[in-house]
Amino acid sequence: MIPRQILAAASAVAFIALGAPALRAAEEVNVYTYRETRLVQPIFEAFTKDTGVKVNVISASSGLEQRIKAEGSNSPADVLLTVDIGRIDDAVQAGVTQTITSETIDKIVPAQYRDPAGQWAGISMRARVIYASKDRVTQSAITYEELADPKWKGKICIRSGQHIYNNGLFAAYVARHGEAKAEQWLRGVKDNLAQKPSGGDRETARDVAAGKCDLGIGNTYYWALMMNADPEKKPWAEATRVILPTFADGGTHVNLSAVLLARHAPNKSNALRLIDWLVGETAQQMYADANYEYPVRAGITLNPTIAGYGKLSADPTPIASIAANRKAAATLVDKVGFDN
Ligand code: FE
Repeated sequence: MIPRQILAAASAVAFIALGAPALRAAEEVNVYTYRETRLVQPIFEAFTKDTGVKVNVISASSGLEQRIKAEGSNSPADVLLTVDIGRIDDAVQAGVTQTITSETIDKIVPAQYRDPAGQWAGISMRARVIYASKDRVTQSAITYEELADPKWKGKICIRSGQHIYNNGLFAAYVARHGEAKAEQWLRGVKDNLAQKPSGGDRETARDVAAGKCDLGIGNTYYWALMMNADPEKKPWAEATRVILPTFADGGTHVNLSAVLLARHAPNKSNALRLIDWLVGETAQQMYADANYEYPVRAGITLNPTIAGYGKLSADPTPIASIAANRKAAATLVDKVGFDN
């Protein structure tokens, strides 16, 4: 996907340069996004159809916060759509956001999925779960704590401990148990690894399918994408079963896709319209269907594959508290030599 995203970003840059005056027109909104075009394009089209507000999209796989920062008060960015508390937090730290004041957001988005300071709001959720070998794993429930149990020695595969997805999970562990216990746990998980952390979540499923390990750690939507939309990788999903792990006292770790309002948004009222619209029924159903995510809005029908994992009972730890432990988690990963 990266080459195409870079291409999209490049052409969008040209568009902005040529069309700058037009972007100041009233019924438009400029969205900077890390999300795949495949997902967001239909959503923006539906928004435009519904409201008459045109959406100009700049899509990239990295660097959007820096770009908004560099553009300064002239930035055309109205809305930033991003994924994972790591990137959300980076945007806030970069100072490129402003407070979202919206009764709709406050009403629809549960408090734990909103920034208490109003700088971001969750739109959808993804859970960090287990891809278990169908052949070699019989248990149907597991805790995150158990991943450090010596019974799994040499049986766990995972991507880098510094990847934002694992950083979020490990930060949640720190938020739950404190740094000392988290360190002990990380050492235990490291001792159970079948191989040096590598690849992405799909490759983790591949390695479980190949018999290199019995348990892989991955996000909920990758498994659904492999099963439903990627014939080449379907066997990797078919060899595994998704288990929704929980912390010992309950709750599956989830991360967010989120929306942020850009600091100098030139089309602020349209930006707020879009932000509210994204938590409406139409958009939320699209997030569930097209990207296999858990909607933040209650009452939306889950994609059948996602529903098939079982009932998600999400960790109630506020995402903001997880963000506060990101650095501690990253330090522990280095300290225990998780990736070595
Ligand atoms: Fe991903």
